[in-house]
Amino acid sequence: MRFRETIKTFLLWELVKGMLASFRHIFRPRVTLNYPYEKGPLSPRFRGEHALRRYPNGEERCIACKLCEAVCPALAITIEAEPRDDGSRRTTRYDIDMTKCIYCGLCQEACPVDAIVEGPNFEFATETREELVYTKDKLLANGDRWEAQIAQSLQADAPYR
Ligand code: SF4
Ligand code: SF4
Repeated sequence: MRFRETIKTFLLWELVKGMLASFRHIFRPRVTLNYPYEKGPLSPRFRGEHALRRYPNGEERCIACKLCEAVCPALAITIEAEPRDDGSRRTTRYDIDMTKCIYCGLCQEACPVDAIVEGPNFEFATETREELVYTKDKLLANGDRWEAQIAQSLQADAPYR
């Protein structure tokens, strides 16, 4: 037994085994991605950066019902609202403190008009905390930017909601 172990040590058998394992994997398909140039698929239920959506005519979807603010377990959402001249109710302030958000998706689930959603964007790292306090303008701009992908994800997930 000891003789066999000595021969194996002398022949660097463990090293050879490791190299054979590496050699076998050379011919298998790669499982790594060259991020950020390559990206993996995202689920339609992926909960990324928040966005406020508009209707196709440009009108804001949000009706200032404040359900999202009430349901948010992290108290990350702050809404102020006023009636417009036409009697419709709209937000005058809609802030999300992204440093508090835990990406639970409850705001999206609570919204009766699919206004606040968590979009597909996960690349929104910042250098300061202040940049992570999102205003209504920022959220609406996110909605405009990601609307095509958001609408696609909502449609794909609709049968399961
Ligand atoms: S995802 Fe959850 S924690 Fe974040 S804003 Fe929505 S309800 Fe609040
Ligand atoms: S985003 Fe939706 S849930 Fe939140 S206030 Fe607007 S309509 Fe209500």
